[in-house]
Amino acid sequence: MNDIVINCAICADLMPLVKDDVASEESKEAVIKHIAACDSCASLWGYSGIEILESTENKTTIDDKKVFENIRKGIYKFIFAFMIIGLLWGVAIINSVNMFYNIIIMPILGACSYYIFRRKFYIFSIMVFVSVVLRSVIEYFVEFGNGAHIGIDLLNSSFTWGLIHVTFTLAGVLIAFLLHFAFGKTK
Ligand SMILES: [Zn+2]
Repeated sequence: MNDIVINCAICADLMPLVKDDVASEESKEAVIKHIAACDSCASLWGYSGIEILESTENKTTIDDKKVFENIRKGIYKFIFAFMIIGLLWGVAIINSVNMFYNIIIMPILGACSYYIFRRKFYIFSIMVFVSVVLRSVIEYFVEFGNGAHIGIDLLNSSFTWGLIHVTFTLAGVLIAFLLHFAFGKTK
């Protein structure tokens, strides 16, 4: 292994990268070596040279990160499955006596979509719109059979249903965004 010797300025530049665990192995080693030998850089880091050697050689922190990452992925999958089931149920109850549950269901799903997709929350809103419109179109054809034709009335009613449900979904996104913003501020 060839040793890379760095000066204090380069060491200070690399420190944030090492702390965030995005530096290359070479940079990490060079920083650790430098800190172990340089008191001013060690105090800049916030540890003594020996402590930093121990903490970076100890790989369990990285393993912990992986475990945490896996748990997070598992939660995301669970919530996404919940969103799909919720959407299917919400679409199924349109035009039934239970349809007003969608006033609650859609915002909850919207909040979930913000939690999972963040800025790409519109992916789920589009899914809501498409499923609701499709349902209205299918229902229309089932109801009118051969007399059905694609006209302005069908577009009007199906798009209106779609927009109503997207509005409720976006209300949930907005609530989740505001909560996220509020909690982010306090941290
Ligand atoms: Zn130094």
